[in-house]
Amino acid sequence: MTEETQKLAVNGGIGFGSKLNARQLATLATYMAEDDELELTTFQQLYVDIPKDQVSEATEAFRAVGLSVYPVGNFVKSLRTCNFCKGSEQEGMPVAKEINERIAGRPVPFTVRAAYTGCAVGCGEPRANDIGVMKMKDTYNLYAGGKAKGIDAQLGEIVLEDATPEELYQAIDRLIDLYAAEGKKREPLAKFVYRYGMDQVRALVAP
Ligand code: SF4
Repeated sequence: MTEETQKLAVNGGIGFGSKLNARQLATLATYMAEDDELELTTFQQLYVDIPKDQVSEATEAFRAVGLSVYPVGNFVKSLRTCNFCKGSEQEGMPVAKEINERIAGRPVPFTVRAAYTGCAVGCGEPRANDIGVMKMKDTYNLYAGGKAKGIDAQLGEIVLEDATPEELYQAIDRLIDLYAAEGKKREPLAKFVYRYGMDQVRALVAP
């Protein structure tokens, strides 16, 4: 990224797999020079560098063709999901969309990775991310503190079990509020919850 450009994270929103259609690709290309490159991240996002004076216009154009646009940096990333192989309703796609709507782009001390999976098979790898949600038949489990990278990789621990969607939304909101208020600058959430104390986190997030 040069001084004259701003990096945006773009994807096709939450659906059956991480897909883009031709119109969306063509729209992205209109804001790129011939030699510009798109970066494909491990978090179901594409990074694209947009000239600073075109960011508003490009964001509007991307959204008009159904792309979701998110900031890059110390924010909650868009929700990574599984492919909902058993169907939207059965695997809770509306709940995943609502979570994404509520949390993606919120400012935090360090980038937060949140992952959702529609059943206990766990294709969305919820326990290997800062925040993880796993649908269990008709209820939801919430995990916090997972970390996929590094020699000190670790699994997230259960924070809330057998929750309704509303209980889940509130717990995730509280967890992010707590981390935003109490996390140190550039302290990853997965580190924060263990420094703060998982029991204390549970008491505040899922009272
Ligand atoms: S986690 Fe379950 S619903 Fe989601 S893709 Fe895997 S098997 Fe299918």
